[in-house]
Amino acid sequence: MTSTRRHNAVLMASTVHATAGSMGGSAYPHLVVAGECQPCVSIVSRLFVTIGFLISFFCAVADHEVRADPSFSYSSWEPRVVNTISNAPVTFTSVVTGNPTSVAFVPKSGPTVPLTPAGDDTYQITLYPEDILDDYQTGHGHHFVGFLDIVGNDTTYRRNLSVNVRDETMPSVPIISINETAQLSTHIVNLQDDELWLSGWAPADVFNRFYDHFEDKFDFANIVSQVTTGRNRGYSSVRNDIRGIGLSMKDNGDTYGSANRLQGIVNYPIDTLFDLGTKGANHEIGHRWGVFLDFPSLDAPGPHWPVSDFARGIMGFNLAGGVGGQFPYDFIEQSDGTFLVQMTELTDEFNDLELYLMGLMAPEDVSPGRLFLNQNQQDQLFHGGIFEGPAELVTVQDFVDHNGSRIPAAGGTQTHFSVASIILSADRLLTEDEMAFFDHMAARGEATNELPYTLGLASGVTKPFYLATQGLGTLSTTMVLTGDFNYDGVVDAADYTVWQDNGGDPIDYRNWKNHFGESIFGGSEAAPVPEPATLLLALLALTAVPHRVRHR
Ligand SMILES: [Zn+2]
Repeated sequence: MTSTRRHNAVLMASTVHATAGSMGGSAYPHLVVAGECQPCVSIVSRLFVTIGFLISFFCAVADHEVRADPSFSYSSWEPRVVNTISNAPVTFTSVVTGNPTSVAFVPKSGPTVPLTPAGDDTYQITLYPEDILDDYQTGHGHHFVGFLDIVGNDTTYRRNLSVNVRDETMPSVPIISINETAQLSTHIVNLQDDELWLSGWAPADVFNRFYDHFEDKFDFANIVSQVTTGRNRGYSSVRNDIRGIGLSMKDNGDTYGSANRLQGIVNYPIDTLFDLGTKGANHEIGHRWGVFLDFPSLDAPGPHWPVSDFARGIMGFNLAGGVGGQFPYDFIEQSDGTFLVQMTELTDEFNDLELYLMGLMAPEDVSPGRLFLNQNQQDQLFHGGIFEGPAELVTVQDFVDHNGSRIPAAGGTQTHFSVASIILSADRLLTEDEMAFFDHMAARGEATNELPYTLGLASGVTKPFYLATQGLGTLSTTMVLTGDFNYDGVVDAADYTVWQDNGGDPIDYRNWKNHFGESIFGGSEAAPVPEPATLLLALLALTAVPHRVRHR
């Protein structure tokens, strides 16, 4: 087992390539939970690699590899979500260019089944829920069903295959139709967009479309692609106004239609990895602040930690090419000055220094960590490996000395972050099933308890943002307008009635009054405007309410 892990670490480092983001800033393709690392370990004929659960928590899909002939272009499920109570067949489609010898579905057990050529480089297979959901775990939302093998003359390229699953823990959600190509539920907006971006991130005009309908009140926007491509998820920076974290000042908000709030975008080109309650989602948001520090004894290493005690945090460590890897290792110093590598449990929490960068922990509360001056020892990252010293003890003051103080000061700044989730779909809007599923996966970002999850081959319990920040930060994934108490997309007199019926909280009243008249039906779409009589009623209510509140 040890040698397998070790072997795998080397392979990961030598075959995974990062690709530069195309969207106006630093975009880091990487970081997928263990199972999804499998695609980046393209199975070249000379090697077969056992999946290294512990080594490679995060990694990129190596689209450099897949350009070999034949080449995976994208895949999709129709419908995009399998309902556990449905018997209806689901169709898996993959587009593969370059005339593969075969394209096959390899189930977890049972015989391999070739996909049927359907023209235009398209290959399909029809499956039934009972065949692929046999061991699905309720509440997980994703299920690993097997592999897609693309066989060429000399190579077999293998991808994990997972499906989105709606079960009885995911209730139906009210859906507001914004217009013919946009709809909303509490935690997601679904935009129909028929243009696929197979090699880059979604372009800025998608976000401009989003801001036609929504206020500029989100710190982060998640965007889920229409189909699964060879890219992994990644973070694209939009703004930075924080000093002392190694980032230069930046404001590209206008490009995306955000006048002053949007800080960054998390891209999800693989929709079965969209689960805002998980460590992976927290990792991507964590790239807002790191890791870009200038280290006292190393060149600036980002966007993850160098081999050090800090790497056990959520931001992980740098594999070759800027790709992030999970780092479940501790180091025991030996009498001869070397360090024995020990496997250790990870907490799924941001560490002190990460919380400092995020502004959630004051510098005096940050523990120091050991940093290895020789970073070229990754082949020793296995239980029982030996690291050479020296390991330098680095304190937060060392970072302040090299990067300046954090401004605004850590420990006294933003602690609540608002997140929008945009789910793209091609050719049609999402169904009620699909809306309920993606809404549920976005809502999980607000959870304050540990959550069961499955992402790729990884499965278990994960900590959502609140727990990952040790209770110091909160995330809102709610997208409805403030004051829209009846949830119809407009803040109007009808909301006043709901407010009144629900006990008349004064803070809610102030929110309603301040946002009165706002609507998500923006842009050139016909917006429902309160009729004069209704408006009059509302205005009367405005004057009457303070009186009522005072006498509650
Ligand atoms: Zn990363």
